[in-house]
Amino acid sequence: MSISPPANPALLDISDVSKSFGSVEVLRSVSLQVTRGEVVTVIGPSGSGKTTLLRCVNFLESYDSGSIRIDGKEVGFRDTGTRQRRSERDLAKMRAETGMVFQSFNLFPHLTAAGNIMLGLRKVRGKSSTEARAIAEHWLGRVGLAHKADSLPAELSGGQQQRVGIARAVAMEPKILLLDEITSALDPELVGEVLEVVRSLAEDGMTMVMVTHEMAFARDASSRIVFMADGGVSAAGPPAEILGTEIDNERLRSFLARFR
Ligand code: ADP
Repeated sequence: MSISPPANPALLDISDVSKSFGSVEVLRSVSLQVTRGEVVTVIGPSGSGKTTLLRCVNFLESYDSGSIRIDGKEVGFRDTGTRQRRSERDLAKMRAETGMVFQSFNLFPHLTAAGNIMLGLRKVRGKSSTEARAIAEHWLGRVGLAHKADSLPAELSGGQQQRVGIARAVAMEPKILLLDEITSALDPELVGEVLEVVRSLAEDGMTMVMVTHEMAFARDASSRIVFMADGGVSAAGPPAEILGTEIDNERLRSFLARFR
């Protein structure tokens, strides 16, 4: 008997993932499927588990039960001790399937913009210095920073540093880009330039899962919005539905009221 694959299999398939820190359950049976080219925005009150979910997808955190698959392959790790058996190099390779950009830019301060991008390309992807430099320059150009390749992070504005952070993540050619409140640490006037980069990546078909409080951006850049509350998915749907006034979900209503 042959079983045909589903017509549109999920690129990222998070299925029934639960996770506790001590006695506190921070993810309660979370399921989320993301297809290729989708931009999914995760919103929700502070402490609802958004960051933990992204960290589980990117191996920065283990989970207790359920599964996380990318392209059908289990990626995250359940807390069964498997992490200890994997070398840091293997973990770095698997992590590279998903690029992650953080709120704090996390650039290496002693490396230039190009150097920050080249590091993973050389160490994880095994590129030569010349190849890595060419890729770094390409992506710096793509985020509007071709002229800053040899600048140190301290010589860049917060918005520019975050654009380098995004360039560093996409240069590794991840299947999915995870963006965790990437504009939250920025001065308001620098938010737009970073969101513009995200928007152009979305237009190019990059699959993304992002956590953000930028509701206007979420509304026009996302294919789907997921509202998390108390560690679970409380509502999910197209932006017009989730951010609209018709929604019959009291928690979501009161959460959104803060942004109006
Ligand atoms: P959000 O991103 O929605 O603000 P988080 O995923 O950061 O939520 O946090 C969810 C819950 O898990 C919070 O109650 C937080 O305090 C707790 N938490 C997160 N990381 C840890 C940790 N390393 N140890 C213990 N508790 C944690």
